Amino acid sequence: MDVSNLPPTKKGRNYEIRGIALRDFAGLRRDEDRLNPFELARYANLLVATYEQIEPFLTEETKLHLIGDGKDSWSGGACSQALPDGRKLIVLNPTHGKNRQNATLMEEISHVFLGHKPSKLAITTYNKEGKPIAREYQADVEEEAYSVGAAALVPFSALRRMINQGKTSKEIARHFNVSRELVEYRMKVSRLWDDYKTKVISG
Ligand SMILES: [Zn+2]
Repeated sequence: MDVSNLPPTKKGRNYEIRGIALRDFAGLRRDEDRLNPFELARYANLLVATYEQIEPFLTEETKLHLIGDGKDSWSGGACSQALPDGRKLIVLNPTHGKNRQNATLMEEISHVFLGHKPSKLAITTYNKEGKPIAREYQADVEEEAYSVGAAALVPFSALRRMINQGKTSKEIARHFNVSRELVEYRMKVSRLWDDYKTKVISG
């Protein structure tokens, strides 16, 4: 592998290599090609259901939580138990925009590709009263899945080239169908932020 097309940090390189592998798997040939996570999900044996499809099975209370008061506290969810045909069900927050859904779905796909076991994600801890709290969150696993997904969406080599061409984060975001925040996050973790500031923002 050509290391000049990888970010300078060890962590960044590890994420990048996995992101590139995901892009290969999706059949993309050029680093500037746009990855469509919804197509990739099919290869990953994931069934992406719309909120409308699951809504009839939800109680009023759950619905209120998912798209009402709690709508900002979740971005997507995977069912820990596979469907009878082996597929895994994923639901994305319908109140979030397309860009955000793309990033969420990529994270879920990364979990599958990286072999993160749902049991690893659902750790039971106990509160002060000794009651179990289901903690569906493990920071390192989440960071890995999000980072690999983001690398697959916005590859380092393409990002560096676009910065050299003077493209803004907004333009790059539009190109890859992701949010500007995700592009800037990629610039920062890939150590391209200083380049961006010099060549694009003040250039
Ligand atoms: Zn996750």
